[in-house]
Amino acid sequence: MYKILVLVILLLLDIVESRHIKTKVVILGAGAAGISAAKTFSELELNDFIILDAQSFIGGRVQHAEFGSSQVELGANWIYGKGQNPIYKLALDHGLKTVPNDKTNLAFFDERGKLSDQNQGTFVYNEFESIKIKLVNYAEQRKSKRQVDLSSRLALNLLGWKPDTPLKAAVEYFNIDWEFSEPAEMCSLEYATGIDDTVTGTYPFGNEFVVDSRGFNHILKEESKTFLNFKDSRLMLNTLVTKVSYNDHNVTVYTSNGDIIEAEYAICTFSLGVLQSDTVEFNPIFPEWKREALLSFHMTTYTKVFLKFESKFWQDWQFALYANNVTQHGSYYTVWQNLNAPGYLFQQQTDNILMVTTTDMESRRIERMTDTQVKQEIMQVIQRMFGVYQEPTDILIPRWHQHPLFRGSYSNWPIGALKKHHLNMRAPLKNTLWFAGEAMSADFYGFLHGAWFEGEYVANIIVRCLSNSSCPRTEMYKYVTGCDERKTPKFLHQQLY
Ligand SMILES: Cc1cc2nc3c(=O)[nH]c(=O)nc-3n(C[C@H](O)[C@H](O)[C@H](O)COP(=O)(O)OP(=O)(O)OC[C@H]3O[C@@H](n4cnc5c(N)ncnc54)[C@H](O)[C@@H]3O)c2cc1C
Repeated sequence: MYKILVLVILLLLDIVESRHIKTKVVILGAGAAGISAAKTFSELELNDFIILDAQSFIGGRVQHAEFGSSQVELGANWIYGKGQNPIYKLALDHGLKTVPNDKTNLAFFDERGKLSDQNQGTFVYNEFESIKIKLVNYAEQRKSKRQVDLSSRLALNLLGWKPDTPLKAAVEYFNIDWEFSEPAEMCSLEYATGIDDTVTGTYPFGNEFVVDSRGFNHILKEESKTFLNFKDSRLMLNTLVTKVSYNDHNVTVYTSNGDIIEAEYAICTFSLGVLQSDTVEFNPIFPEWKREALLSFHMTTYTKVFLKFESKFWQDWQFALYANNVTQHGSYYTVWQNLNAPGYLFQQQTDNILMVTTTDMESRRIERMTDTQVKQEIMQVIQRMFGVYQEPTDILIPRWHQHPLFRGSYSNWPIGALKKHHLNMRAPLKNTLWFAGEAMSADFYGFLHGAWFEGEYVANIIVRCLSNSSCPRTEMYKYVTGCDERKTPKFLHQQLY
């Protein structure tokens, strides 16, 4: 009897505590896209919005963890270019500490240790640099002749590149897999490897590596303070969205703690991985054209494995490549980064940290293993590369693929996905449920600045919907047929709005 009474009281409390909130716009996700959307609304004097996120902090995939006496970035770590890059601008505004990233500051190893002739590695590295330029020119040529898209592997073959030695395979891995998080077989030539961005970068003056003890997401947290008050009730963290219902008039969001948020419009910034899964119930379920579009793109997995050692047994390079036989058939702990490189870690004296990256299938394989099993594998690699047998005193493995709030690290444009698929993926449903986030950016998918631009873009459209009481028409295709039309070859640099 007593137990039943307690249960009834708890249920009543729950009912009392759960709220029904009405707002103009609900923003699902407090990552870069969500914060950028909210900032845009504030600038346009639309202050009736709510931001929801299941995590306890702002930043989404930009997050860090304590490791030793340092903070390491589990997700985004690089600012890709300076100039007009909005993320670089935020970094300047909020005094983020970064160091120049130099991929040519690179040491080459194989299964017998450091290559005695490092020039051999540099030669292959430079050879691939010129192949990348050829890829871009080749993609342009094919586009001008309206030829179909190719896989990057096929294009590389046609251009005479074959990764038929461990060293060549490792260099290719560093340039393709390590950037796109998928192998050349998967990557589209036209929309992934064959775009200028892969060679020159969209923004000039090189990339920066974030080494700030406050974490990379400091810039998003600080930026949110420019429009949110202290403990602003419009920011609802620790709030898991379980269901989203939408129709022609409004969107209703249900949370795991019983709150219901009703809005005229919603911006969903959940990752492509989340949208491809059934973690969140959408009602009605997405129409087939939308599901086809979402499933046409890939949510990849990029894993940084952090290893802490008693002593530093490596030199002062920024990067090292481990050219091994397995790399030719996938990859095996191929790219290493030295977090003790000059200027990198802020606790240089106490922490000796190496970071090794895995991608795609390898990431999924190691996510299924225990930390100890991964450590054992890596120790053997370290013994081959450095000739030392030193057990890491600590290991940290973010498991992005298994994470229910992300289901991967970032999106990639695979062979087979068309421009119309992308337009469909980005298109709103019923003109009330809108989508933003890195995957929705045709120009900069995968990047933090892509997420930032998309949040801004959709917020601008919604303000127009609200002030005109109807939304501008967006391009979508109920049926995706044939190849992309080439009437607008400048798709990759289309106007944002
Ligand atoms: C390992 C890794 C390395 C990367 N490296 C770089 C890099 O160096 N440079 C770069 O530019 N980009 C990098 N990226 C990509 C970059 O992090 C993303 O492009 C960007 O952070 C995406 O922002 P977003 O707002 O689109 O999505 P997110 O950051 O994923 O924001 C979406 C938010 O939705 C929330 N959410 C999801 N489901 C629910 C739910 N059911 N209920 C409530 N909330 C929910 C999540 O908690 C999340 O906060 C990297 C990503 C990873 C994972």
